[in-house]
Amino acid sequence: MSADDCLFCRIISGEIPASKVGETPDAIAIRDINPQAPYHVLIIPREHIRSLNETTDAGLLGRLLLFAAGLARDAGYADSGYRVVINTNADGGQTVFHLHLHLLAGRHLHWPPG
Ligand code: 5GP
Ligand code: ZN
Repeated sequence: MSADDCLFCRIISGEIPASKVGETPDAIAIRDINPQAPYHVLIIPREHIRSLNETTDAGLLGRLLLFAAGLARDAGYADSGYRVVINTNADGGQTVFHLHLHLLAGRHLHWPPG
């Protein structure tokens, strides 16, 4: 299922261009348009899922995490470190309502986040 007015569905369909860094049968990885770290990639499932609240698909969620870890390793950040984040709804800072993981690396990331 896709949502016609969903930005990430339109990127997945190719209607809106994006800088793709990888893909799997059920997800794509693109550069974030407004990077918060030297390496900032979004891992987006092809299926339109509104947020982490709207799925119980543990297999898909596991594959998304392993995809993120593989991208981090391939980009050379496995040892120096990286962060994977899923912003969910208003207080989580979610602005695009199609589930996605942020993969951030290339600088020291502070904790706690703002
Ligand atoms: P959220 O705030 O929902 O967790 O993350 C949405 C992310 O999508 C933001 O980091 C934002 O910079 C990114 N973004 C918004 N519009 C576009 C776009 O058109 N292309 C790409 N590549 N990223 C986008
Ligand atoms: Zn969507």
